[in-house]
Amino acid sequence: FEVYGAPIIGPKGEWKGIILVFHDITELKDLERVRKQFVANVSHELNTPVTSIKGFTETLIDGAKEDKNTLDHFLSIILKESNRLQALIKELLELSKVEQHGFQLDFQKVDIMPVLMDTFEILEKKAAKKNICFEIVDPKRQIVCETDSFRLQQVIINLVSNAIAYTPPNGKVTVSVSEDKDEVFIKVSDTGIGIDEKEFPRIFERFYRVDKDRSRESGGTGLGLAIVKHILEAHHGKITIDSKLDEGSTFTVIIPRSQGSDRGK
Ligand code: ADP
Repeated sequence: FEVYGAPIIGPKGEWKGIILVFHDITELKDLERVRKQFVANVSHELNTPVTSIKGFTETLIDGAKEDKNTLDHFLSIILKESNRLQALIKELLELSKVEQHGFQLDFQKVDIMPVLMDTFEILEKKAAKKNICFEIVDPKRQIVCETDSFRLQQVIINLVSNAIAYTPPNGKVTVSVSEDKDEVFIKVSDTGIGIDEKEFPRIFERFYRVDKDRSRESGGTGLGLAIVKHILEAHHGKITIDSKLDEGSTFTVIIPRSQGSDRGK
């Protein structure tokens, strides 16, 4: 508790008592703790690639550049770490945008299948590199729903990128859509490493990763699902997970067909 006190003085300046206000600041303290933790995480995440870039550059300047193989190898690490830094900054900016109080979406009635097909085009090369069979089921259907298509695409890109990243070569990633009267369901399934049930609530936290090394290796920032969560909240939607270790995962995005006053009727 935080306590504020003030004297109560009568019209003639006489002392009449004291007023005390007790303010419960548990929630504020919690927010402050989360904010501090976030800043510490950001600093750590930014510092890791910078330290590596600096170290390799210094070693090159100190003479390692004379050896052509070492030069090539170190330069490729520096490029990889710079890309990582850039991805991290981009995702941090995105997260701060979608987390802002009153974050506004541009809702339009759109057919979501072309949005999914655009995602397919963006990510098919990434899947092909791992020989992963990537499929959008029934792409010619029409499923209309009131959504911010740019943000919805961001959700699907993040989910499919994860599905590809956490699925070993020769696996399968499938996106399928279904609908009922009020809602649209977009399922992203993979035959990957799966997620232990006890991790389900945590993976939507900023920077939480089940396996930090694996996530880093695949270029992950630990922010993708936090961004997904915020965009879906702004859509009055939700996401469910169904997963089994070593068998695969299915993330199902559920969004209302309509965002207006007729929503849910
Ligand atoms: P990252 O950038 O690390 O992928 P995300 O926020 O997108 O961060 O995901 C958080 C964590 O959830 C990942 O590090 C990974 O451990 C787990 N995860 C997400 N999607 C999958 C998936 N399809 N299969 C297995 N694990 C996943």
